[in-house]
Amino acid sequence: MKREGTNTTIAAIATAYGESGIGIVRMSGDQALEIFSGLFRAPSGRPADDSNIEPRRMMYGWIVDPATGNKLDEALGVYMKAPHSYTAEDVVEIQCHGSIVSLRRILEACLAAGARPAAPGEFTQRAFLNGRIDLAQAEAVIDLICARTDAGFDAAFAQSEGVLSDRVNALRDAMLDLLVLVEANLDYPEEDIEEISYDQLEDRLQQINDELLQLLAYAREGKMIREGISVAIAGKPNVGKSSLLNFFVKENRAIVTEIPGTTRDTIEEQVSLSGIPVKLTDTAGIRESDDYVEQLGIERSKEAFARSDLILFLADASVPLSKEDEDLCGLLRGLHCIVLLNKSDLPAVIGEADIERLLPDAKILSTSLTEGIGLDLLEQTLVEWITGGKVRRREDVLLTNIRHIDLVRLAEAEIKEALAIAQSGEAMDFAAFHLRQACDCLGEITGLTIDADMLERIFSQFCLGK
Ligand code: GDP
Repeated sequence: MKREGTNTTIAAIATAYGESGIGIVRMSGDQALEIFSGLFRAPSGRPADDSNIEPRRMMYGWIVDPATGNKLDEALGVYMKAPHSYTAEDVVEIQCHGSIVSLRRILEACLAAGARPAAPGEFTQRAFLNGRIDLAQAEAVIDLICARTDAGFDAAFAQSEGVLSDRVNALRDAMLDLLVLVEANLDYPEEDIEEISYDQLEDRLQQINDELLQLLAYAREGKMIREGISVAIAGKPNVGKSSLLNFFVKENRAIVTEIPGTTRDTIEEQVSLSGIPVKLTDTAGIRESDDYVEQLGIERSKEAFARSDLILFLADASVPLSKEDEDLCGLLRGLHCIVLLNKSDLPAVIGEADIERLLPDAKILSTSLTEGIGLDLLEQTLVEWITGGKVRRREDVLLTNIRHIDLVRLAEAEIKEALAIAQSGEAMDFAAFHLRQACDCLGEITGLTIDADMLERIFSQFCLGK
């Protein structure tokens, strides 16, 4: 939907579609109060208007059809006067019964009275365009809504409060200060201004570069916190895949059985590991089979491996490796893999060396799913894999959004170029060029330097009514 300027009044249902206790229709713009006044009736029958509506005070009454006076629903209304509102414009929120019928009726009444339907994310876009929040804060709003774990929500919350923006702005300011100095030296070499030597330029660029690297240090974990990871559980039938999935889910979602081949298709579960949303997929075992369903499972397994960030491969340590194990390992070579030598409670027939022969790069752990042996180490190994072994402090700013991560990486590459120029003593103009590019990259994170198409793309990812 094409967004118009900010002078029109927009309206949308702000709560999820379905059946719920209450639902909210939200309006923002110059006409929001006037439209609301025309639709709202207090128990006294008096229409609400400028004279009796107090900002940020709930009013009880009904939303009526202005033409007939018929009540559409019982409602509470609240007016938030510009600029003290989410969008920094006049906003009215109408709480009604959370049925689709009531919400649709009230929205239609608002539209009939002069509002237009809001595009996805348009309320937040207005908050950005009106300068109440920057782009990184606006993007954090999507993450708050979509967060699936506490860690994801906390990271988004910090970003919505401007923690990332402050850090990015401080870094950009440092770049700009340096840029101004370099350009002044280039433009007015004779003037009485602070001079900058190549050594000084190098020192300051190095400092900026270190800070960019610091910001990128937890980007991998941050991205995983926001987007989650997918982990496939692989292994031939009867090695303990369902038991492993159950261990993670801690409920009997997958059927544990002694009959080989009952995990015919893939089963998916969402779990949270150290704050990372993890999609676990229990894949069917790979085996020679005429059974169509079984075959389908095998194909799906292969697809699931290719799509997964990590594979947990299980082998039964109490029996010799079979051709099926070897075939599976063949499929897994080159992928990120942790091997579980399971059933360690039974006398061991195979050991780490047998697996190393097939999967030389994989991490190998010994487990017993029935006895609960090695499972703490498994969780620890998974968390280490996710974090890359880096321990994050609470105060570390976390980059989670891939757009931001890419821009910081680009800025870092530009600073590296500038550093190389400072070190080799090439013309400072070139260093200034790269420094300016780096500034623009950081400006794109907070929306200082960004084109309209990109903005449209970002806000269209939002849900309606936000
Ligand atoms: P899947 O076919 O790979 O999904 O394997 P299941 O999880 O269904 O397990 C197959 C059988 O092996 C079940 O009877 C489990 O109780 C048993 N099993 C799983 N893990 C272990 C283990 O660590 N030790 C022993 N002794 N049995 C296990």
